[in-house]
Amino acid sequence: MRKSRIMAPGPTELPPAVQAAGSLPMIHHRSLEFRQLFGDVCEKVKPIFQTTQPVLVLNAGGTGGMEACITNLSDPEDTLLAITGGVFGERWAKIGEQLGRKVIRLEVPWGEAVQPERIAELLAKFPHTTLVLGTLCETSTGIEHPIKEIAKIVSQTPALFVVDAISSLGASEFKMDEWRVDAAVAGTQKGLMCPPGLALVALSERAQITLKNKRGPKFYWSFETALHHLLSEPYPDTPWTPNITLIFQLQKALDLLLEEGLENVWKRHQLLAGAARAGVKGMGLIVYNERSPSPVVTVIQSPEGLESSVIKKNLQNEWGITLVMGQGKLKQEVFRIGHVGYCDRTDVLMTIAALEAVLADLQVPIILGRGVAASQEFFINAKPRELHV
Ligand code: PMP
Repeated sequence: MRKSRIMAPGPTELPPAVQAAGSLPMIHHRSLEFRQLFGDVCEKVKPIFQTTQPVLVLNAGGTGGMEACITNLSDPEDTLLAITGGVFGERWAKIGEQLGRKVIRLEVPWGEAVQPERIAELLAKFPHTTLVLGTLCETSTGIEHPIKEIAKIVSQTPALFVVDAISSLGASEFKMDEWRVDAAVAGTQKGLMCPPGLALVALSERAQITLKNKRGPKFYWSFETALHHLLSEPYPDTPWTPNITLIFQLQKALDLLLEEGLENVWKRHQLLAGAARAGVKGMGLIVYNERSPSPVVTVIQSPEGLESSVIKKNLQNEWGITLVMGQGKLKQEVFRIGHVGYCDRTDVLMTIAALEAVLADLQVPIILGRGVAASQEFFINAKPRELHV
């Protein structure tokens, strides 16, 4: 018998109700039934972004949502400021360059969060910057960037602040309207507990005005077209055939998140991340993202002389647990445990226990049980009972 488990920062496991919603009979997207479903989803997703503004639902992975933001919110001759320091910050810069924009890179050392003052300095130096491109959870390094502080700076300038919240929406605290973020992108396969395949893009009023004035080429990804359909009365619809099955699933997942309560969801992720860090340190390993850690993913340095691919392979083959290796220049140096989405205390304890067994078997000098005990103690001291984790 083989039971597989995913402990990756996306795609994540699905709650049974979300999985079941994936086998509902197909409906037609121009039917009243679909439009009511879509209307419900478009309303329920707003509190997850903490916005009252429209949220577009695109048939795309997260990267498609990022590209669509640049396509719609800037013109080819515009200047963009990309906060790098990891694979996904770098992705913003690459998309901008591929689309012919002038990209200024704010290089942040990997494993560190950006200092917001640096954005103020660069915006003063390049006052014609159209977009500042940031990342809430830099999933490759596990760092959470100070989005609230950056938004405070950018909102006082003509530039728009676009945030990649792909791995962290529904996991990390994020308050689009209150913080004055202009556009935020999420993917369904992480905190939103669904399969991959939809990109959600929330747009501030400023962003909605800006996109009307940007005349660069676009068709399938046109936000103007999508917004026009979204704002149809009495129910919204989509310009193109939507991923109907995923929209059924998203409705179920949003119900679950709203039932748990967004604040509790954020607290649960903090709790799981804290216990994962405690467990890893308890077994004597070094946490890479010790400073400004995101609650989405714990990034761990591979023990001396051991490549992360070996740890990943053994956990998978011997315990059925999928973790992920590092990305980019950290590929073999670190491995990553995701604790995002449909994840609870037992998942974390089980992963720490299996990791200890794998490392001991690989002759890494650890004492079995120390990591598990540290996670257990963390949970006991955090008294999470009221979270119903
Ligand atoms: N940004 C971040 C922060 C991510 O974690 C990911 C996926 N790991 C992406 C962008 C890309 O999303 P997708 O793979 O759905 O295109």
